[in-house]
Amino acid sequence: MSALQELLHALPGAVLLARNDVIVYANAASAALLEVASPEQLHGRTTNEFVHPLDKQRSSERIYRISSQAVEPATAPNKPSEFRLRTSLGNLRMVLISSVALVVEGAPAVLMCGLDMTHQSEIQQQLRESEQNFRRLFESMQDVYYRTNAQGVVQHVGPGVRRVLGYEPHEIEGRTAESYYPQSSDRDAFKAAIMAHGEVSDFPGQMVCKDGSIIDISISSHALFDHNGQFAGIEGIYRDVTQRKNLERELQRLATTDMLTGMANRRAFLDAAEQAWAEARGNGQAMCLLMLDLDHFKNINDRNGHLEGDRVLVAFAQAVRAQLRASDTVGRLGGEEFCVLLRTTDADSGSEVATRILEGVRTMPLTTATGERLSVTVSVGLANLRSVDRSLHELLDRADQALYNAKRGGRDRVAFNAGGGPSHTDSLGPEHQDT
Ligand code: GH3
Ligand code: MG
Ligand code: MG
Repeated sequence: MSALQELLHALPGAVLLARNDVIVYANAASAALLEVASPEQLHGRTTNEFVHPLDKQRSSERIYRISSQAVEPATAPNKPSEFRLRTSLGNLRMVLISSVALVVEGAPAVLMCGLDMTHQSEIQQQLRESEQNFRRLFESMQDVYYRTNAQGVVQHVGPGVRRVLGYEPHEIEGRTAESYYPQSSDRDAFKAAIMAHGEVSDFPGQMVCKDGSIIDISISSHALFDHNGQFAGIEGIYRDVTQRKNLERELQRLATTDMLTGMANRRAFLDAAEQAWAEARGNGQAMCLLMLDLDHFKNINDRNGHLEGDRVLVAFAQAVRAQLRASDTVGRLGGEEFCVLLRTTDADSGSEVATRILEGVRTMPLTTATGERLSVTVSVGLANLRSVDRSLHELLDRADQALYNAKRGGRDRVAFNAGGGPSHTDSLGPEHQDT
């Protein structure tokens, strides 16, 4: 064997020499590729019989192109191209083949070189499919994917941003994520959480849309680090949760509001009062409670009907609120009993507010269905926070006792319970104690 033949034999790529398509030489790699026991078993067979039917046409055209002008001038070799081959065992191979026409021992021949790409093309196909799957998922995702660098500049944002914020991805990429937060405190809290835990899930916040509207979002993200362990940015998704938040807000409102008067209901009022009580205790501030109960309300219902009674309750709620500051809280404890919480208010100021409420209620411009004037009054029990109080209930109890005294004292008046027993109770009517 010549040195050249030895080299050909040892080449990792398949090498074949064919004359009129009949194989006259094959190296070891050819035998392995076409699954025959030795190269000699290929001698005398045609290359065409190994070409997959779908590629036969293309293959013979290529061979014809070079062999038709085989002698002179030499044709350019056929560039590498992929062909499907069937091995002698019937297995399919994807082979990258280049061929060249030449003259061997005075006769025209075609030299073919093949590289088995079967494995590679399978991998490529898998890659293509997984890429397509990923794209489909990415494009249809309800969430917005995003990635920022260490400076907070958006590097990449998913197409979901069109639907969620109304921007094209390229309008966002290259800008800092901060620009989309209506409150910078939201972004700061998010960053602090990411830095503390490396990731956050369902983190609440808000974002500004292209049209200026503000939406509620929920973010799930994690920090990115480079190979030196340096913080390199943040990657994650966010989603529009405005509808869910609105629903939550509405549920919260329904759960805490009295439907007739729009005031806080009993539970919400007592929660607020607990909080105010703890705050006032904590920083030594004054605080007052007014307990209110409409006078002879049964009579109003009896004479005018329950519906009319409801109308009076609504008007009453308005009259009370008209006398309060934004920092005061009023709640309907039940029936026609109400309670007002006056923050940072001492007994004297609380008494003034109560007197104004009495006046406001007494002068409500109410008429019955038949056009007669409907007069309504209320009794008020006043109590103020004392340093010895150990719970809100002590304060509520004193206000209750004061209310009882206001009723007993003749109604349409305010009574003050300073604590320390009944002797400290003082009842101040519209005419300052007329009974
Ligand atoms: P007093 O001056 O002693 O408070 O007399 P009162 O008639 O107001 O007596 P009380 O406070 O015990 O009665 C409350 C009445 O309020 C009884 C009930 O029929 C009526 N009431 C309670 N809740 C409602 C309501 O939501 N709508 C109407 N229309 N009436 C209510
Ligand atoms: Mg009453
Ligand atoms: Mg009552």
